Amino acid sequence: MNTESSTEAQGLCAFIDRSPSPFHAVASAAEMLRNAGFTESQPGLSPGGHFFKSSGSLLAWIEKGQPSNSFRILAAHTDSPNLRITPNHDQLRYGIKQLGVEVYGAALLNSWLDRDLGCSGRVVVRHPSLENPQEILLHLDEPVARIPQLAIHLNRSVNQDGLVLDPHLHLAPVIGLETLSTQSFLELIAERVDVLSGDILGFDLMLHDLCPATFAGMNKEFISAPRLDNLLSVHAAIEALCATSSAIEDPTPIVILCDHEEVGSTSSSGASSPLLRDLLYRLADGLPIDPADSLIYSVDGAHAIHPNYAERHDSNHAVAIDGGPTLKFNAAQRYATDAMGSARVRLAAEKAGIPLQAYSHRADLSCGSTIGPILGAATGLPVVDMGAPQWAMHSAREMCAANSPGILQNLLGVLLSGEF
Ligand code: ZN
Repeated sequence: MNTESSTEAQGLCAFIDRSPSPFHAVASAAEMLRNAGFTESQPGLSPGGHFFKSSGSLLAWIEKGQPSNSFRILAAHTDSPNLRITPNHDQLRYGIKQLGVEVYGAALLNSWLDRDLGCSGRVVVRHPSLENPQEILLHLDEPVARIPQLAIHLNRSVNQDGLVLDPHLHLAPVIGLETLSTQSFLELIAERVDVLSGDILGFDLMLHDLCPATFAGMNKEFISAPRLDNLLSVHAAIEALCATSSAIEDPTPIVILCDHEEVGSTSSSGASSPLLRDLLYRLADGLPIDPADSLIYSVDGAHAIHPNYAERHDSNHAVAIDGGPTLKFNAAQRYATDAMGSARVRLAAEKAGIPLQAYSHRADLSCGSTIGPILGAATGLPVVDMGAPQWAMHSAREMCAANSPGILQNLLGVLLSGEF
């Protein structure tokens, strides 16, 4: 099957390329919602599609114009592991200009080596006439930074012993030669956003892989892209909400996109924040929220079986990369899926003719987690953790099957409809 023509997969690739930072992911999602007729506003019981942004997070929902106490909620995170630029970042060694960086999240550090890197995020600048500073998104798709790895002649045992990278010593990207320019990195950024560097009052900037998302494999059966974890889920959730009819009755469909999952979710806009809970209270408008008729679907990547490392997986839970969405289970509640939640997803998948898989981590390896258990604890609502299979999770470049975006969107649309 040639899946290149899948509009969902092409849409995902374009979304990823437009969204190098969580702030851009939110901006891209907001643009999709606006195009589908949603308006940017606070909850106010006025019928129709609404959304609001909070830094690198976003909430979107369809109101009925009357209080609602049951909900179907799709949740995904906007951030991905990467390298973040430190406040005092200019470094100079042996005439080489370098950038101070900090590792964000559990990145596979080796994947950032020998790669052309652009810069993105937000800068906050002094406004010429207003008292409040102004936020500007930066998306610099130029190879301004690169981390060359050490030649094998200077580290002869690397292929036997493995590559060990000290994040402080070995990850500073090179950005230029002192002899050619005295321009600082921030001066370059100021030039690109057309302000004076002295007017930049703050920034949240990070590096990104410059290679566009692409189809890969002999029959283009894979997608190779940065940030598949978790923009694949973000894009599918927003597409599903945009396709949801505003005429449907209870339960109310909601999408929450959260920043800071990769660093534990404790922030004013992360999954631990009151964002979702406050929205539910405002939509309920005094009605008691009904947990028996509400469900959070926490959508995040699942580990597909890696053919070169099959022994790292539980052989009874060998998730196929192209085998469809995957329910994720963990006895210690690192994933929140339970019997009732999985039953409802199975019914929805059955109805839509969508294959489902199940994932459980090897019992002797510690399992990752996601926003599902956190949102469950914050709201008291049941949660299903699920998502599309992928390889190379947390690499600067990840892989999934080209059929995944379409199948996931399809399933999320059925789940959002509230029939199950
Ligand atoms: Zn994730």
